[in-house]
Amino acid sequence: MALSTHVALARKWRPKNFTEMVGQTAVVQALQNALNTGRLHHAYLLTGTRGVGKTTLARILAKSVNCEMGMSANPCGVCSNCQAIDQGVFPDLIEVDAATNTKVDEMRELLETAHYHPAIGRYKVYLIDEVHMLSRHSFNAMLKTLEEPPGYILFVLATTDPQKIPITILSRCLQFNLRPLSIPQIEEQLMRVLQAEDIEFEAPALTALAQAGQGSMRDALTLLDQAIAYGQGKVIRQEVENMLGLSNRQQILDILKGLGDDNGEGLMKTCREMIRQGNSLDHALQELGQCFLELAMIEALPQSGDLPPDLEAFRSQWKAQDLQLFYQIVTQSRQDLPLAPDEASGFRMSLLRLLAFRPEYHSDQERVRTPTQKIPSSEKSIPLVLATPAIRTQSITLGMPQSHDEWLALVAQLSVGGMQKELLVRLEWVKSEGNLLMCHLDPENGHLKSFNNGVLTKALQSVLGESVRLNIQVGERTQKNFLEQKQEQDNQQKQQDIALFEQDTVVQMIQNQAQGKIDKESIRRH
Ligand SMILES: [Zn+2]
Repeated sequence: MALSTHVALARKWRPKNFTEMVGQTAVVQALQNALNTGRLHHAYLLTGTRGVGKTTLARILAKSVNCEMGMSANPCGVCSNCQAIDQGVFPDLIEVDAATNTKVDEMRELLETAHYHPAIGRYKVYLIDEVHMLSRHSFNAMLKTLEEPPGYILFVLATTDPQKIPITILSRCLQFNLRPLSIPQIEEQLMRVLQAEDIEFEAPALTALAQAGQGSMRDALTLLDQAIAYGQGKVIRQEVENMLGLSNRQQILDILKGLGDDNGEGLMKTCREMIRQGNSLDHALQELGQCFLELAMIEALPQSGDLPPDLEAFRSQWKAQDLQLFYQIVTQSRQDLPLAPDEASGFRMSLLRLLAFRPEYHSDQERVRTPTQKIPSSEKSIPLVLATPAIRTQSITLGMPQSHDEWLALVAQLSVGGMQKELLVRLEWVKSEGNLLMCHLDPENGHLKSFNNGVLTKALQSVLGESVRLNIQVGERTQKNFLEQKQEQDNQQKQQDIALFEQDTVVQMIQNQAQGKIDKESIRRH
């Protein structure tokens, strides 16, 4: 591919005749019939969103009526008239973009020239894009022509907003609605283009581009141009996903794996990563839904076709009805996304819903699995991973603690592990004297006292200063230690989580529809 002579793909691959048109079969057929039977209307109104082929159709129509080989639905494309139209230099094709052409008088004069015969062609074709933007004067000038149209006049009006066109004009036009192109239609066209251009590509990358085109072939082709530049001459899935700000496929697979392995922590780690990278979380849910759909299809109809290779690992992981439930959860969550406090919270909530409804397979109903696959045990809890609650952060102090609460805040800050941590979380603060910390330890935990060693002292010194010492006496405690305090808070939080889940409308809906049960006891915090 010679980049120096690069022509934008959207321009290069603009259809030049009716047979090259992608989609819009109803409109194409109606126009072909009109041309072949010589019953052409003098004014067509093409409606539809951007990039669906309105002006392309208009130009093909202009060629069809002006081709030197005769008027037909198959313009030759090589005669001087056809070529002039393709190059945009044909004097009898008057193209105006009403959205950018703001000079009212000029526009009106242009429309008043309609009573002059065509210069070289059979028809004088007016192609007015975004026609709803015309001024009232211009519409009046157009109306005069439409009321008594000369035989050589052909109006092709295009608009994204037909409601704004005066009824007097509308009633004199034959109206066609052009539909947004489907993802497979765009995908196939992108593939044709790449094959013809001899450019290497990965098929899933085209799906992503087609989706991003949102029904517009022009937008999809423009994105394809960018993707080729981005991928240095190749269209690679990973690159396209990066370019479009989509979550990469591996992250989606990681979520499925976390769900299948009962690994809530891993799943939420992936979730955080995706949020941090600023990916489109709506798209992530869409892709998750697609995965569940594919897996459900293969589960319900094993002969229905192939799974994408990267989903093979999840074949038979879930039952068909569970996959349908998952699908429903992500679909519903997508609808709820705009209502969530922010996209990230909405996404996190969707994953929590998936975890909460993760099925448990009991041994008597256990499905046949390959030995390498992990079999979720019925004793396993539903891991609901939320942020670790901070304990008494309001009383954080870097000095010697002067109360038991300050002591608890200090413990929360210390980074020690192992047996030193086991000891620390069980201590009760008694008093601080100079550089000496005095604490109590229950008699039943007395054996932990020996872990008051250099490691622990060092951790304390890193926060409280070089000379601090910890003195531990075995004796009865009167206040809750860090461990008990945390358990109490976790318990409260667990009740809140359960309440939150019971209020969640999506959870309610799914519970009603699928008789899904949440194992409340298994909701736990990490
Ligand atoms: Zn021709």
